[in-house]
Amino acid sequence: MVLTDTHTHLYYETDTDKRAQMMQRCLENNIGRLFLPNVDSASVPMMFDLVKTYPDACYPMLGLHPCSVKDEWEEELAAIQPALHQHKIYAIGEIGIDLYWDKTFLTQQVQAFKLQIQWAKTLKLPIVIHCRDAFDEVYQVLRNEHDENLRGIFHCFTGTLEQANKIIDLGFYLGIGGVVTYKNAGLDKILPQIDLKHVVLETDSPYLTPVPYRGKPNESAYLIYVAQKVAELYQISVEDVARITTENSEKIFGV
Ligand SMILES: [Zn+2]
Repeated sequence: MVLTDTHTHLYYETDTDKRAQMMQRCLENNIGRLFLPNVDSASVPMMFDLVKTYPDACYPMLGLHPCSVKDEWEEELAAIQPALHQHKIYAIGEIGIDLYWDKTFLTQQVQAFKLQIQWAKTLKLPIVIHCRDAFDEVYQVLRNEHDENLRGIFHCFTGTLEQANKIIDLGFYLGIGGVVTYKNAGLDKILPQIDLKHVVLETDSPYLTPVPYRGKPNESAYLIYVAQKVAELYQISVEDVARITTENSEKIFGV
């Protein structure tokens, strides 16, 4: 059994011993593939450092997180861009729109999102979308940019069934993480109505820790609790969840 964490910031742990222990716990829980999104120019070297240490398990992605889009967003993008050509990367992400924390830079967030979609189209890479309190804004960009090559993951999906279907119709996958284990989040009611062929798993570590570790820092090894909950909701085995969602991730990332 191989589980794929399609979204983890494990590189935030810079203590090499603690990192080694985290990677060991991944192995013990059959989490064999970790896809890493940076968030800004400062996190690029941290991410590649982890990739260099664990090249068989870690797959880098590159982008500018919407919460890191401020006045100097163009300089930030210019600082990230060279790395696109210096390394093999597997997606542009995480990119998108976040209006939960701050609406000040909405215009800039949309501009940065569109520009990075162009990167993805040029490099024929999938995109990994961060969307918070901004579904309509993100959807409008995706509708306008839609073509036969644009594809990817709607990371940390927590929306309605109607929103899920709109995303799937555009050819995107839903990234499902720890929120599915939270009582009252409602995702457990929606998810079984969605074919698992449209779903990938993620932790978004160190955030959004699944039950039974909710409230503590998250790590990729806890993907097993997400997989167990998804298996319970679909009434299939964890092995089947691992097989289907890892196959989905292979289709997206080409690896
Ligand atoms: Zn993230």
